[in-house]
Amino acid sequence: MTRIYEDMAYSDRPIQDRYWDSTLDAELPVYPALDGDASCDFAIIGGGYTGLSAALTLVEAGADVILLDAKRPGWGASGRNGGLVSAGMSKLSDDTIEATYGAADARLFYDAERAAVDLVRDYIDRYALNVDRHSDGYSCVAHSPAALDGLKAYGESYTRRYGLPYQLIAPQEMENHGMASPDFHGGVHLPMGFALNPLKFLVGLTRAAAAAGVMMHSDTPVLKVLQDGGFHLKTPTGTVRARKVLFATNGYGSDHLPRPLGAHYLPVQSNILVSRPLSEVELQTQGWTSRQMVVDSRTLLHYFRLLPDNRMLLGLRGSVRVSEDNIARTRARARTDFDRMFPAWRHVETPYFWSGLICMTRALVPFAGPVPGMEGAFAAFGYHGSGLTGAPYGGALIADLALGRNSADRPHPAFMQAAPRRFELGRYRRASLPPAFAWYRLKDRLS
Ligand SMILES: Cc1cc2nc3c(=O)[nH]c(=O)nc-3n(C[C@H](O)[C@H](O)[C@H](O)COP(=O)(O)OP(=O)(O)OC[C@H]3O[C@@H](n4cnc5c(N)ncnc54)[C@H](O)[C@@H]3O)c2cc1C
Repeated sequence: MTRIYEDMAYSDRPIQDRYWDSTLDAELPVYPALDGDASCDFAIIGGGYTGLSAALTLVEAGADVILLDAKRPGWGASGRNGGLVSAGMSKLSDDTIEATYGAADARLFYDAERAAVDLVRDYIDRYALNVDRHSDGYSCVAHSPAALDGLKAYGESYTRRYGLPYQLIAPQEMENHGMASPDFHGGVHLPMGFALNPLKFLVGLTRAAAAAGVMMHSDTPVLKVLQDGGFHLKTPTGTVRARKVLFATNGYGSDHLPRPLGAHYLPVQSNILVSRPLSEVELQTQGWTSRQMVVDSRTLLHYFRLLPDNRMLLGLRGSVRVSEDNIARTRARARTDFDRMFPAWRHVETPYFWSGLICMTRALVPFAGPVPGMEGAFAAFGYHGSGLTGAPYGGALIADLALGRNSADRPHPAFMQAAPRRFELGRYRRASLPPAFAWYRLKDRLS
């Protein structure tokens, strides 16, 4: 494998203290490793939301599908995220999207973002998934008094994008909304999206895919993909022959799979801290009782929500290495942020902390399209930390492409299908992160 993080990033160490495992009422589904040779119409590499959604879309169209995961379905970001379902697959502003790609494709992109949220809801309904849903849209809170103006402008552009009204929350209103914190100075409520338990969602999709007839294999890393009319996927325990292949590895990809897209994606760490359950008195003392999912206005943003069992979940970005020291340092930083945001909970233990890799693209827009120069191969990745919404949609989009059909329910702008740009630093691209994070930290402090 040609991957850009330390080996520890691809081990179980970062999820050793993951809270979601304790919420399941059964073991995580595990499937047998591939044993010998097999063949199918469509082979999928990666069993996160992208791969599972692609598999469900294909199998529901009557196709014959094999899904291979190096570890097990949900081992990647899909089993470790914060559970915030919201729009935001791109890091570009409306103005930049419209100036770069034109008004018509920008419109299609905003429609795609809405359709992506609808698809998550549709999967929950279609497979009757119990995923502990809560939150009516989300709130974005200002990390400084000056940042509130930026949020008002964001609310207006949100309304333009999605045709949904935003609501301004004045600083003095935060307490009435159950969002009292010395760190936040007003905010906006944005009405699209909801929160869920991401591992329960993942397990639900996995079981639905297996029940629908997808042949699933855990512990089956694809080491090589050879093309000779069809595809041969080489694994340590056998080979899969497939007519078409779908790459669904996102931040856990390897630069040679597929080679034409090597260094066209940048994995970035995201981290989550979870507290013990807070008592009603503790919630009231802090003045934080809201069940809304929330992000703050920092460039290195925090995302957080009070879980249904009264634990506070706090997510943050901004660490570059994956080592014992770095895990300890990032955990301490998360705790410092937690204490600053919720000073009345300084005595509250935070027993869970874990991390994983999200994925960025050079153009800051997601990709779901054909692999350049590999007819019959497709890939979807680069959801910029919003893959709980973007990945099921990306998977469905590449399944449609692989089936040679257009789905009227799934807007798919041309720029999402165009070959993504390579990162200039190639295999050394992670080196661009420390200066970027330092600049974002300074910017967040000054704004
Ligand atoms: C800590 C954290 C918090 C997040 N919070 C949110 C959030 O609140 N909301 C949101 O929208 N998004 C969030 N995200 C992002 C979201 O989880 C991801 O964008 C999404 O899960 C990506 O899904 P995926 O299926 O594309 O990739 P992944 O879920 O990462 O799956 C990739 C799979 O590919 C497999 N694989 C890799 N290489 C091979 C190979 N050679 N052979 C076989 N299998 C292979 C891996 O084992 C892995 O299971 C968060 C991510 C993290 C890490």
